[in-house]
Amino acid sequence: MDKKLIKEINKQLNFELESAHVYLAMQNYFADQSLAGFEHWFNIQYQEEVAHAQKFMNYLNDRGIKVEISGFGNPKNEFNSVLEVLEASLNHEKEVTKRIHNLMDIALDVKDHATVSFLNWYIDEQVEEEANFSELIDQVKRLDGKGLYMLDKELASRVFVPINKE
Ligand code: MG
Repeated sequence: MDKKLIKEINKQLNFELESAHVYLAMQNYFADQSLAGFEHWFNIQYQEEVAHAQKFMNYLNDRGIKVEISGFGNPKNEFNSVLEVLEASLNHEKEVTKRIHNLMDIALDVKDHATVSFLNWYIDEQVEEEANFSELIDQVKRLDGKGLYMLDKELASRVFVPINKE
């Protein structure tokens, strides 16, 4: 495998773990606000990010590459509103999308067809991730206090769906 591509995939899997950390901090903001549905929803988001990292790890392992795990800084723990958390999340996912697209550009550049095929899953997943947060932002913007309570109840039903291990 191309050295630069390996390095960038390794960097991305660490960024997925950092994303998990970002959402874990948000989960605890909601716990503190007694919004149990949002708290649960962000816990699922956290689990998804760990699964995204694991999927990258499995891929590099399958290609005979040793993964390197790195550290990262403290995530943001203080927020002023539900909307602020959701907007920070959407911006975070836009950054992830940019990075995934950059990985795809490199894979195409070095004609690594297996990696192009592998990365397609993440390209599709990012459309979903951005849509999830955009929709939540739209919903929260339309809500009054009672509506937020109802939305919180609804978010409590999100289920973690494991990625099929290939
Ligand atoms: Mg992710």
